[in-house]
Amino acid sequence: MNNGQKNLPIIIVGGGLGGLSAAIHLAARGQRVLVVEKNERVGGKLNLVEAGGFTFDTGPSLLTMPWVLRSVFAVAGRRMEDVLTITQLEPICRFRWPDGTQFDACQNLPQLAEQIARLEPADVAGFLRFIAYAERIYRAAEGPFLLRPFDGLRDLVTPELVSGTLRIDPFRTVDQAVSGFFRSPYLRQVFDRYATYNGSSPFCAPATFNLIPYVEFVQGAWHVSGGMYQIARALAALARDLGAEIRTGAPVERIDIHSGAATGVVLAGGERIAATHVIVNADPRYAYANLVPGGEKMAARLARIESSYSGFVLLLGVDRIYPELLHHNIYFSSDYRAEFQAIVNVQVPAPDPTIYVCAASVTDAHLAPPGHMNLFVLINAPVLNARVNWVREAPGYRDLVMRKLERMGLADLSRHIVFEQIWTPATINQRYHAPGGAIYGLASNNPWTAFLRPPLRARELRHLYFVGGGTHPGGGIPLVLLSGRAVAERVLADVP
Ligand SMILES: Cc1cc2nc3c(=O)[nH]c(=O)nc-3n(C[C@H](O)[C@H](O)[C@H](O)COP(=O)(O)OP(=O)(O)OC[C@H]3O[C@@H](n4cnc5c(N)ncnc54)[C@H](O)[C@@H]3O)c2cc1C
Repeated sequence: MNNGQKNLPIIIVGGGLGGLSAAIHLAARGQRVLVVEKNERVGGKLNLVEAGGFTFDTGPSLLTMPWVLRSVFAVAGRRMEDVLTITQLEPICRFRWPDGTQFDACQNLPQLAEQIARLEPADVAGFLRFIAYAERIYRAAEGPFLLRPFDGLRDLVTPELVSGTLRIDPFRTVDQAVSGFFRSPYLRQVFDRYATYNGSSPFCAPATFNLIPYVEFVQGAWHVSGGMYQIARALAALARDLGAEIRTGAPVERIDIHSGAATGVVLAGGERIAATHVIVNADPRYAYANLVPGGEKMAARLARIESSYSGFVLLLGVDRIYPELLHHNIYFSSDYRAEFQAIVNVQVPAPDPTIYVCAASVTDAHLAPPGHMNLFVLINAPVLNARVNWVREAPGYRDLVMRKLERMGLADLSRHIVFEQIWTPATINQRYHAPGGAIYGLASNNPWTAFLRPPLRARELRHLYFVGGGTHPGGGIPLVLLSGRAVAERVLADVP
C-alpha cells in the first residue's frame, strides 16, 4: 500500500446494524471508516416513525441475546448499560386463538408449567425435554454458525462441525421435531412460530432453528427503554466516538472496480470517494444487480435462492388503553400450515393471517400520549410478486386484519385509531433496498441454505465484502451484529 492509500477509509455502504457493528469493530482497531447511508437516518430495517406524540419502532420490536449487543460496546472498552437501559419482559408474549384459547409464555418456570398444564398436562414434561434438546442444538451451532461464521464449504468442514452435525438436527423440519415433544396443537403452533424469527416456514425450515426458543426462554426477551431505535442511536454515537465518519442522505450509485478490486464508491450526484476496502451492508442481491459493475451473473445466481418473506405492517396510534394487551401479543390463525402454504408456496397474503401486535407503550408509557397506545401490527406477507398488487390490495387487507383483531378482543379498534400508517412489502423494498421487501434476506427453508449465502469476503473481487442479514450468519439483530464482527476480522486480516 502506498502512502496515498494509507489515508483512504474503509467504506461501508449502508448504516444498518450490521454496517454499524462493522464500523465499530474496525474503528476500535484504529482503522479509518466512512459509513455512507442512503436514508436520512441510520439503523436500516431497525427504524422508527415519530408522529402525533407516538413513537413506533418500524422493524424489530424484541431484543434477544443481549450479550451480543453488550459485546459490541465491550470491543471499544465501553459498557452498554451506560447508554442503554434494557428491561426483561415477563410474560414474554400472550398468544390467542380464534376459539378463545389463551397462553402466556413466561420465563418463570412454575408459571410457565401452569400455563402449559392448562393446555395439556403431559406437555410440561415435553417442554422440559424440548428445552434440553434445544440447548444441545444451541451449544453445537453457537461456534461454527454464530460466533465464527464460515465463508464456504472449505471452512465449514471442521472436526467440530462434523461431530456436531447430527446434534443440530438438520434433516427434520421445525414442525416435525416440535410435534415429537408436544401433544397440544396449541403448543405445537407456539413452538413452530419461532421459525418465523428468521423469515422461514416451520414446515420447511430445518429443526436446527429450534435453538431459537432456547434463546428466548433461557436468555430472555428484552425491551430497550425509549424504543428499539435507541440501539441504532447508541451504535452510531459509539462509532462516531471511535472516529468513524457517518454520512446520511448519501446513496451509493456504484462501486468502483479496478483490476479486479473494489477501490471506492460513486455517490448519486457523481461524487467519487476512494477507499482501501468496500464493505456492503445493503442486501447482496440488490448490490450485485445495481452497484457492482459486472455483477449481473452473481445477481442472477442469488435471485434463484429462496427469499425470506416480507411483512405487512400497520402503525396504529389509538386513543384508549386495551388492558388485555401485553407488550407482545400473537393472534394466531386457525390453520398454520395453510397460512405458510399461502405466503411461501402460493405467494399471496394469507386469508386467515397470524397477527403480531406489539404494544410497547405497555412497558414504556413515553412512547404514546397519556391514555393512548402505540400498536405496531405485523403480518407475514409474501415477497413482491406478480400475483399481488399491493396498491389495490392493501386497504382491503388492512380491513381484514382490523376485523380479526376486533373479533378476537380489541373492541371497536378501528373507531379508536387517531394515527395510522400502512407499510406493504413495496415500502420495505423501497426504504431499504431489500429485494422483494424481504425482512430477513434469504430464507432458511432447507438445510442447505446456509451454504448458499454469499460469503462475507467476495470471491470474485478483491477488497469487496458483505455484512448483514444477506450474508453470514443471517438476519435478526444479534446475527447481523455478529456479522459485523466477522467481516471486520476478514478485513483486518487483509489490511497489509
Ligand atoms: C418489519 C420488520 C420486523 C422485524 N422484526 C425483527 C425482530 O423482532 N427481531 C429481530 O432480531 N429482527 C427483526 N427484523 C429483522 C432485522 O431488522 C434485520 O435482520 C436487521 O436489522 C438487518 O440489518 P442489516 O445489517 O442486514 O442491514 P439493513 O437493515 O438491511 O440495512 C441496510 C442499509 O443499507 C442502506 N442502503 C441500501 N442501499 C444503499 C445504497 N445504494 N447506498 C447507501 N445505503 C444503502 C439501507 O438504506 C439500509 O439502511 C425485522 C425487520 C423488519 C423490516
